[in-house]
Amino acid sequence: MTSSDTHFDYICIGGGSGGIASANRASRYGKKVAIVEAKAIGGTCVNVGCVPKKAMWFGAQVAEAIHKYAPDYGFDVKVNQFSWQKLVESRDAYIDRIHQSYDRVLGNNKVTLINGFATFIDNHTIDVDGTTYTADHITIAVGGRPIKPPVPGAELGIDSGGFFDLAEQPKRVVVVGAGYIAVELAGVLHSLGTETHLLVRRDKPLRHFDDMLSDTLVEIMEEDGPTLHKHTEVEAVEKQSDGSLLVKLNGGRTLEADTLIWAIGREPSTDKLKLENTDVKVDQRGYVIVDEYQNSSAKNVYAVGDNIGNVELTPVAVKAGRLLSERLFNGKTDAKMDYTNVPTVVFSHPAIGTMGLSEKEAREAFGDSVKVYNSSFAAMYTAVTSHRQATKMKLVCAGDDEKVVGIHGIGFGMDEILQGFGVAMKMGATKADFDNCVAIHPTSGEEFVTMD
Ligand code: FAD
Ligand code: NDP
Repeated sequence: MTSSDTHFDYICIGGGSGGIASANRASRYGKKVAIVEAKAIGGTCVNVGCVPKKAMWFGAQVAEAIHKYAPDYGFDVKVNQFSWQKLVESRDAYIDRIHQSYDRVLGNNKVTLINGFATFIDNHTIDVDGTTYTADHITIAVGGRPIKPPVPGAELGIDSGGFFDLAEQPKRVVVVGAGYIAVELAGVLHSLGTETHLLVRRDKPLRHFDDMLSDTLVEIMEEDGPTLHKHTEVEAVEKQSDGSLLVKLNGGRTLEADTLIWAIGREPSTDKLKLENTDVKVDQRGYVIVDEYQNSSAKNVYAVGDNIGNVELTPVAVKAGRLLSERLFNGKTDAKMDYTNVPTVVFSHPAIGTMGLSEKEAREAFGDSVKVYNSSFAAMYTAVTSHRQATKMKLVCAGDDEKVVGIHGIGFGMDEILQGFGVAMKMGATKADFDNCVAIHPTSGEEFVTMD
């Protein structure tokens, strides 16, 4: 290889959501671009995150439709069997097609994909498994990985990555954690028929979300499952002679399970990058310190996505990566990511959609000028059956003009409802603007424009 083969205008380390998006956008402006990826193209989201998770969540939706709702819609369904293997096979085939599509797009855009593990030699130079590459600009987009707690036997548990590797459906599962992943995986397993225990160390899961959302989720879990164990911490995990796990809890309690899933958070994958060879600074937890333009403390090195420890969502990594390339390679000197008011969905059962300030945060920020509108009803899809399920929605408004500063909903279909309202909120919509839009009837979404 000559130096012209190994020198690039731009290298993205990490072929996940942020790296791919930034590299493709840079190539649009005629730049010579490479992505270095140590594992499968697509990163966390495509391989062990959003995509396989959503496929499993859809599987769980089908199970709920058959078991809970079909009978009252007049279907006398007999399920001979549920094949976990078939669901996994369909999911993985879909992921294979995404890989192929990424390869095609990168090829069309003339982005070089370097398979291997990158480490820094200096601010402009990296090593990938023995080959040296240089670049004028380098973006760190190496994402993160799940953590396990320092309790005896923790290694007997798996993490979200291990969940996607399960070849067989476990009969009894303990899920530990209180964030997105714990709630989503526990919900999927429960709906697919696994005896599922969700262990949270405080009073409820998703406690940083608006209370209406987390409280309603708890109510629904207490009615429908999975079994929620509040104020519960794992003190040790042991393997029993029959291969099952004995999970020892605080207060001398125990649970038996086939599988334990740790879902207690993630950490950045920056520790093996040899950043000590550069001027890039990281914080105490290893997140790359960047300014609002994604600049690290090294002049030509940038960082986007989960490894900066801001909002850890795929569309955030994608948008930040694209905006960075617009700034570096298309003369948009002011292009930068706005990390406020990011809409997000938890694929719980039922789904949660949320954006902006919780009621509590709004009251702290705006005091008495906050006005809150609520709606509570049974989603019609469920209301015509004997398995009525609550939907709750909330608008948090502030100021004399009642600007909408928070929008929150839990209920059937909420995963698809929020996006459009996100546009309105981003445009600074007021309650009057919401009311000004004619409702679509009969839907759940119409409640957001008809609240009194
Ligand atoms: P990643 O996608 O993690 O990509 C980083 C890549 O860098 C990886 O492929 C890794 O192999 C590679 N890499 C690391 N070190 C090196 C190195 N030294 N050399 C070469 N390559 C390297 N977000 C949503 O918006 N919606 C969801 O529904 C959702 N569900 C999720 C479910 C789960 C179970 C998980 C774990 C996450 C989920 N997320 C979801 C979050 C989302 O996956 C991440 O925010 C997103 O993938 C971050 O993108 P990234 O580019 O920062 O990093
Ligand atoms: P999160 O950081 O969201 O949640 C982890 C939670 O687990 C903590 O908030 C904490 O809650 C609890 N916890 C922490 N340590 C312990 C411990 N030692 N024992 C028991 N519980 C503990 O992490 P996740 O791994 O769930 O998700 C990582 C990120 O990935 C998310 O924040 C999100 O940005 C993204 N993601 C997005 C999804 C989506 O868009 N649908 C889906 C999945 C992930 P508490 O303090 O209340 O105990």
